[in-house]
Amino acid sequence: MSLSVKCYRCGEHYDDDARVRCACGEPLWIDSDPTTFSWDDCRDRGGMWRYEALLPIDQPEGVAQAAGGTPLVRSPGLDDAAGARVFVKDEAENPTGAYKDRGSAVAVPHAVATNDDVVGTVSYGNMAISTAAHATSLGRECVVFVPEGTSSVRLELIAQYEPTIVQVAGNYAKLYADALDLSERLPIDVLVSDAPTRISGYKTALFEICEEFAPAVPDVIALPASSGGFASGVWLGIRELERAGVIEEPPRLCLVQTATADPLTRAFEAGAMDPTPLSPGEIGDTIAHSIGNPDPPSGARALTAVRDTNGTVVSVTDDEIRTAQRRFAVDGGFCVEPASATTLAGVSRLADRGVITADESVVLVPTGTGFKEIGTKETAVAAETIHRDVLRDRLETLLAR
Ligand SMILES: *Cc1c(COP(=O)(O)O)cnc(C)c1O
Ligand SMILES: [Zn+2]
Repeated sequence: MSLSVKCYRCGEHYDDDARVRCACGEPLWIDSDPTTFSWDDCRDRGGMWRYEALLPIDQPEGVAQAAGGTPLVRSPGLDDAAGARVFVKDEAENPTGAYKDRGSAVAVPHAVATNDDVVGTVSYGNMAISTAAHATSLGRECVVFVPEGTSSVRLELIAQYEPTIVQVAGNYAKLYADALDLSERLPIDVLVSDAPTRISGYKTALFEICEEFAPAVPDVIALPASSGGFASGVWLGIRELERAGVIEEPPRLCLVQTATADPLTRAFEAGAMDPTPLSPGEIGDTIAHSIGNPDPPSGARALTAVRDTNGTVVSVTDDEIRTAQRRFAVDGGFCVEPASATTLAGVSRLADRGVITADESVVLVPTGTGFKEIGTKETAVAAETIHRDVLRDRLETLLAR
């Protein structure tokens, strides 16, 4: 059965969930009716399937059952660095170490149940790893389109699930449109970053945060944003809980971008409804390689989410990201990837500007684990070697205070 999809902007409906974009050009999402929902309707199921009542599919088999249900941790050690009361929603604890699993957990089983196509994805990062894992756990073939020259460390992470990996030469940023075209013409179901079924999965992160805070809501939720898919899912969740009457005031959505590729920040600051795609000359290198889409397909929707929730968009530099990544580890005990560290760096900037105040509760969402990065850079770690015969003496000096 095809699910009904709807455009957030013009309100158009389509009874075709394979359709990703509206005639008006904007991305679609799945229209569900949350009006009678209350927290009592949550199911006694693992992970994100607790919210099965608001999801377009029933709990599937496979690794999808392990998606979501991540911890929300009050982390006072990070308060000083952030300039607010910090909670960490640790999306690193998903089966492939990133929030992408929430989307794959709906999109891949739905594709497997409705067609015989090979599942595909356009990514060389967390999206590729997640999609390949979910496809193989249901015995479905997967093809992953990566850019030419993808590092062997990245390829190894993807290859462990044994998808077909295709390296593509040419402008990789344009592959989103090519993927939609391939999906139409070949027996491949390319589940792009903002496929409607993915967005449904992403909203469960918001449900988990709000259920833990209930009946209160956090003042701010800070997310990194690239394609705008995750921000869209979180906003969809907010809208559904508002319609259900479960929350009144929405949390303010604060999106963080890397300064080297920040079309959303630029549009937000210019007061524009739609981001302007950046030209290749306007994009720089960044350590936050999971974010930095120069032409975000859900960019306008993410900006609308920000305005609707009275939120904001902010950019941070690689230096700020490095500092924040260290603070996450040293002050919080969290190993996060650079793209995720942007949340702390961004909130810190907003606190400096007075947009967030010290008494406000802020949920930082580290979207992906830092463990995948280990071994990708040369860092000398200082560790002394001590013979065991003199260990006690030496430790007495080392630990003297
Ligand atoms: C994909 C990704 C993002 C960005 O999400 P979008 O939906 O593209 O905005 C942020 N952080 C990490 C770790 C990711 O993998
Ligand atoms: Zn539309």
